[in-house]
Amino acid sequence: MARRRQIYEGKAKILFEGPEPGTLVQYFKDDASAFHAQKKGTITGKGVLNNRISEYLMTRLGEIGIPTHFIRRLNMREQLVREVEIIPLEIVVRNVAAGSLASRLGIPEGTRLPRSIIEYYYKNDALQNPMVSEEHITAFGWAATHDLDDMVQLTLRVNDFLTGLFLGVGISLVDFKLEFGRLYDNDEMRIVVADEISPDNCRLWDMRPVIDRGDGQPVAEPGPMADVYTELARRLGVLPSNVTHSPKPTLIN
Ligand code: 5GP
Repeated sequence: MARRRQIYEGKAKILFEGPEPGTLVQYFKDDASAFHAQKKGTITGKGVLNNRISEYLMTRLGEIGIPTHFIRRLNMREQLVREVEIIPLEIVVRNVAAGSLASRLGIPEGTRLPRSIIEYYYKNDALQNPMVSEEHITAFGWAATHDLDDMVQLTLRVNDFLTGLFLGVGISLVDFKLEFGRLYDNDEMRIVVADEISPDNCRLWDMRPVIDRGDGQPVAEPGPMADVYTELARRLGVLPSNVTHSPKPTLIN
């Protein structure tokens, strides 16, 4: 079979031309994402797990009427998606203070926020994705006000849904990043969730007590999850049978 034409290569994924017009194949690599660049190099099996996790989450979102670019998973590392015009924004929603919000505003990590807070970042690697306001977004034409309203509404619905879903498996959704695209259908344009939803763009804390600290006492406070890719896949029931559950996910064939 002729090799498919590569459209784009990012840190964690490669996009290839799809089998039909208007489709793309999204290939999940094992390389650490830009966000997780501190975890340099590759995490064996990460791409396989993110492919499954994103398939599961996008499918659940579709079932509650949230439009996404996801069509279906093709194999261990690839999924078929609709070709969209990517909006050059990262929409971050935060439920608990952590990461850049905690450091920028001096709010202790782990503080529950009075309400979910949405932030916008301009997708531009050379500028390291700077935070922007609605004024920048509309003035520079990255998105119109009504597109941004749609993105915010969708983001809040995704946040509510994922918060509940993760809570059910003992995980706190601290914050996450979404990307959106414009999907054209004849004369109609719809904003849909694009990219992926996986531990590469979610900050997830474990809420289950773990015995640690050497005194044998269960520790119940949420904290960063060890081996988050395998653990999330396992708790969501999508861990492929040929991936071992170990601190370093390893494919055995
Ligand atoms: P923070 O601003 O605290 O570094 O990140 C907030 C949330 O957005 C985290 O859940 C993180 O995963 C996500 N995020 C922010 N920037 C990026 C990015 O450039 N790439 C990815 N994959 N996720 C990001």
